[in-house]
Amino acid sequence: MEKNVVVVYPHPDDESFGAAGTITKLRNEGIPVTYLCGTLGEMGRNMGTPPFANRETLPLIREKELANACKVLDIDYRLLGYRDKTMEYEDVQEMAGHIKGILEDIKPTLIITHYPDYAVHPDHNAIGAATIEAVKLMDKESRPEVWAQAISKGFVDELGSPDITYDVTEVFDKKLEAIFEHKSQAGGMINTFSGETPDAIEEKKAFQKRMSKEQFYIWEYND
Ligand SMILES: [Zn+2]
Repeated sequence: MEKNVVVVYPHPDDESFGAAGTITKLRNEGIPVTYLCGTLGEMGRNMGTPPFANRETLPLIREKELANACKVLDIDYRLLGYRDKTMEYEDVQEMAGHIKGILEDIKPTLIITHYPDYAVHPDHNAIGAATIEAVKLMDKESRPEVWAQAISKGFVDELGSPDITYDVTEVFDKKLEAIFEHKSQAGGMINTFSGETPDAIEEKKAFQKRMSKEQFYIWEYND
């Protein structure tokens, strides 16, 4: 059984869209979870119509949303303080050193992050690569297990079946509740799903199906 889990993704809402079901299962087993969030997603284009945010207020709004989502998921979070949409330009070794310092403090037995090159967004790929490198910098004996999440289209064709597949249907309501805390990102979805029309019900069902599995590869270190 895992004793202490750290999730490392770049943006507020990645934890909810990507791993809320897995996190809920872990929390239900009493396992502490900490989210290391790379940026505040402050370059997000969605400011609403009419605008609910500007460049100055968006990071504050997104941190509040993150705090609320983490409260729903009953987990802690820490901010890594990188700039949104620029993580790919950071020095990987430097970022790895930074993340390693935090991991040595929290001492997780399991880390969940993105699978580099299979995580669509450059920030996602960069933080996955840095996290995997951070663990590699540790003594072999003290390395936690790393679960890497691929999300690119057709990743199974290239990487094979994931080692871990969680069907999160049972805890889907919790996942949706966490996603909905990210109102600046999920606003349109919240409006759509709140409708009672057959279309709205269909769309919610399709979304649930798309989001019903959370899959991970156990990262293999060869040295
Ligand atoms: Zn993201």
